[in-house]
Amino acid sequence: MCHKKQSTKIKKCSCGLKLDEAKRSKKVRYWITYRMPDGRQRREAVGAFEDLDAYSVSYAREAEAKRMVQKKERRIFDMLPESQMTFNELTEWYLDLEKVKALASYDIIKIKLDIFNAEFGNRVVSDIKPVDLENYQSKREREGTGHHRSGNPQGEGHGVQSLR
Ligand SMILES: [Zn+2]
Repeated sequence: MCHKKQSTKIKKCSCGLKLDEAKRSKKVRYWITYRMPDGRQRREAVGAFEDLDAYSVSYAREAEAKRMVQKKERRIFDMLPESQMTFNELTEWYLDLEKVKALASYDIIKIKLDIFNAEFGNRVVSDIKPVDLENYQSKREREGTGHHRSGNPQGEGHGVQSLR
């Protein structure tokens, strides 16, 4: 069984399989591809959606439509398991919360997150290790940018955890 992933417009796979026939006999599994709000491309198997048939193009369109609505409504927690989210995505979601927007410290929070995301924005949240945060903190201290922080030993790492 061939696992090559290709456009639905292609008629014949390089392995020789005639795709239109294969689709009719439900031998082709569909995937959807789209961009996340931060620009990363993401691919998902239609079969991974609950209640959707992986072998049906109409279900593939349904899966795609579902993601587009969630994207428009910025419901990234519905789009992604938390473990696959980047800090940019998490930040975008967080700064868009009405109760966060109402905070007096909103601008300061935003500046701090921008600085943090310049380093970690494209990283997936679950991939960051405590040692990454420690290195980041010492780097910022070396650069003399750490002096605004209080003596809180948990520093940036604590801020990250409370975001999740
Ligand atoms: Zn093939």
